[in-house]
Amino acid sequence: MNARTTLEWQAADAAHFLHPFTDFQSLARKGSRIITKADNIYLTDSDGNRILDAMSGLWCVNVGYGQEALVEAAARQMRELPFYNAFFQTATPPAIELAELLSEVTPPQFKHVFFSGSGSEGNDTVVRMVRRYWDLMGQPGRSVIISRVNAYHGSTMAGASLGGMSGMHAQGGLPIPGIVHIQQPYWYEHGRSMSRDEFGIVAAGWLEDRILEIGAEKVAAFIGEPIQGAGGVIIPPATYWPEIQRICDKYGILLVSDEVICGFGRTGQWFGCETLGYRPDLMTFAKGVTSGYVPLGGVMVGDRIAKVLIEHGGEFNHGYTYSGHPVACAVALANIRLIQETRLVEHVRDDVGPYLAEQYAKLREHPLVGDAETCGLMAVLLLVKDKSTGAMFPSELDMGMVCRGHCFREGLIMRAVGDRMIIAPPLVITRAQIDEMMSLIRRCLDLTLADAHTHGWLA
Ligand SMILES: *Cc1c(COP(=O)(O)O)cnc(C)c1O
Repeated sequence: MNARTTLEWQAADAAHFLHPFTDFQSLARKGSRIITKADNIYLTDSDGNRILDAMSGLWCVNVGYGQEALVEAAARQMRELPFYNAFFQTATPPAIELAELLSEVTPPQFKHVFFSGSGSEGNDTVVRMVRRYWDLMGQPGRSVIISRVNAYHGSTMAGASLGGMSGMHAQGGLPIPGIVHIQQPYWYEHGRSMSRDEFGIVAAGWLEDRILEIGAEKVAAFIGEPIQGAGGVIIPPATYWPEIQRICDKYGILLVSDEVICGFGRTGQWFGCETLGYRPDLMTFAKGVTSGYVPLGGVMVGDRIAKVLIEHGGEFNHGYTYSGHPVACAVALANIRLIQETRLVEHVRDDVGPYLAEQYAKLREHPLVGDAETCGLMAVLLLVKDKSTGAMFPSELDMGMVCRGHCFREGLIMRAVGDRMIIAPPLVITRAQIDEMMSLIRRCLDLTLADAHTHGWLA
């Protein structure tokens, strides 16, 4: 299968494949890195290099690569029944069993699920469902959904609109009407004059300010990621989410938790809302539900909404061909059972999560590191020009990309969001593998520091 050389793969790739979130011309000039196989937490590229994947693919391969139980589940289901839909008053056993299992592992208010093919589609469903709910409640005026700057909720029209990425809004006439954004709870940028806990209350207060500005009778829902992932692993102060919950309750506004990254153990609990202390009405999931082995997403529907949709809703005019795809559901079942049997959530909560936190605390001593934080198996370090003042590097230096370049060359996948270097390794990672990852991270930081000295970039 790998009959072609790296150069041949790159040429064919550049000639035909338009990659997501990519400057096509610039990539064609450099050539893609071609990943050919993987096992556990390690990737292999077409030149035979071994790379430690500290991003779990794209925040999704939580059980690691090469899990036979998932492969077997897919093969078995493909032979038995590769596809049937759920439109024609029909269902398949894997979809039913997965719906049942999801209601067991999610918080108690969730007994129903609506399946989609991805996280973006799940958030499209959220928009449709939230507005349908308020129509059925006789309050059609409640249509505005409040989200946050620098949030990521996917890349469909509704997903990108809910997200707060200015670069995405600048292309394609977004956001769609009825979606507004408040500032994110990013302490380092917006709250360093306060304690983190004080800042959490202030940042949550921005939601109340906006509700009062719009008029609570027009606000349908608030949506947020427990921890913003693609935005750069922005871990909110512990006071933030409970205060958001209080404000939503006060005005009767629906609370939506986008658990696409935080769900299925990433934060050391099954769902991020459990770690961060709130009780959502809707929960979007994708990525970790199948550990990325096949695409699947969906929305957990809380009792408050499910009751209205079921008892008073009539037909809900929404769905996808692949809602409840039997192969995807079979893989998700195998994945969740594996997480349960191997006690992977407890492994994150009690063992590798605290261990990673210890290691990251030590990174704060490094001359380039202005801040280092973790939650479960999500972690971030911030590259700064001057630790004593907290001054950042000028953005045109793109220090994050300088550091990321060293990571690639040293055999580590770490992602840069501006100058925030982020990781979210597979949940199966061991302490010994964390040690290996930390020594790679330190080496890349040292190489980046050497560049900064050479070029006179430091304060
Ligand atoms: C990745 C992501 C999405 C979008 O999921 P896709 O499967 O790429 O459509 C939505 N929300 C969050 C928080 C994500 O990280």
